[in-house]
Amino acid sequence: MNYIVLDLEWNQSPGGRYRENPKIPFEILEIGAVKLNSRRKTVSEFHETIKPLIYRTMNRHTQEVVHMDMEELKKSRTFSPVARSFLDWCGRNPVFVTWGPSDLFELQRNLEYYHIQYPFPKPFLYYDLQKLYSLGYLDGKKRPALQEVVEALQIPQERRFHAAFDDAWYTAEIMKRMNIKPLLIYKSVDYYHLPENSQEEFTLDFKTYTKFVSQLYPDKETAMKQPAVTAMKCSRCSHPLKTEIDWFAGVGGSMYYALCECPKHGYVKGKIRIRKGPGEDVYVVKTVKPADDEGVAEIRERKASAQERRHKRLEKEKAKRKAKRSEAIAAQKESASIQSRRIRSRVRHSRKKSNTSASVPKAAEKTSAQTTTE
Ligand SMILES: [Zn+2]
Repeated sequence: MNYIVLDLEWNQSPGGRYRENPKIPFEILEIGAVKLNSRRKTVSEFHETIKPLIYRTMNRHTQEVVHMDMEELKKSRTFSPVARSFLDWCGRNPVFVTWGPSDLFELQRNLEYYHIQYPFPKPFLYYDLQKLYSLGYLDGKKRPALQEVVEALQIPQERRFHAAFDDAWYTAEIMKRMNIKPLLIYKSVDYYHLPENSQEEFTLDFKTYTKFVSQLYPDKETAMKQPAVTAMKCSRCSHPLKTEIDWFAGVGGSMYYALCECPKHGYVKGKIRIRKGPGEDVYVVKTVKPADDEGVAEIRERKASAQERRHKRLEKEKAKRKAKRSEAIAAQKESASIQSRRIRSRVRHSRKKSNTSASVPKAAEKTSAQTTTE
């Protein structure tokens, strides 16, 4: 088994979003990688720049970060032959290691654009060393910059940063210096190729917590109706759980929470993240883990504030309905009073008319009758 420590540099549309090709918003221009054996010794290196075919000038922001010259790049090979050489060089069943979660996603998007097949496993798991470093050496949540960690580990800074091969080299050096064994359980899931049906949906067991990834659903309401999505099993013993607080939406509606209880292990909390897939579809990433007192209190607070929000929304709707009703009543009253005013004035008018017609002399009446017959 070999580790492929990979870093890519890419360019994006120089004309901004509306001029980008939505099938390939980031065009890979450089692949750098270091192959480490299972004992984390360097066994081989790969570095090649790529001739761009989509965006032929540099995006302003890209230019500020990466050290690449368009004229130089135009002398390189195009993506397809470079990618094929790279994938051949990777060998069989490589374990990919990257700094951050985006390189493998963009690699697959570029491969798909050029119709290059590669047997990525399903699910496709890899190591995000930035995350592993945070889990092992920081608070687990922070995502430090590569240079920050290079400095912290006192790796000689004899190379540039933000160049594919140099960044891959630094990442490999960081991996060599880390106490990696206890962290190797924390594999990351690649979300480029999602499960295509319910059989492909999967749950990963990280010993302390589990992670479930669903197929695509047309919307979150449909997703939240799926038993596989909302099922809760203890992350330690797989025992079905007693529901304490059923799934409810957090602020913004893209997260759902639940609290359950295992007869052996106590409280277990569930978190569902609704993520946007390609197009309008969504998929679900559910994590289930034991909840300590703080965790239980947090879920209860979230539930209380969700209830308060619901209550406020209902009150608002009620007030709106009430306002509408009183508006309708006022309008009704108004039209009734107009009607009655009309009736009164008609009555007055007809009274006046009958009074006047009674006083009209007979002769005049005759004259007018004559006029009409003429
Ligand atoms: Zn349990």
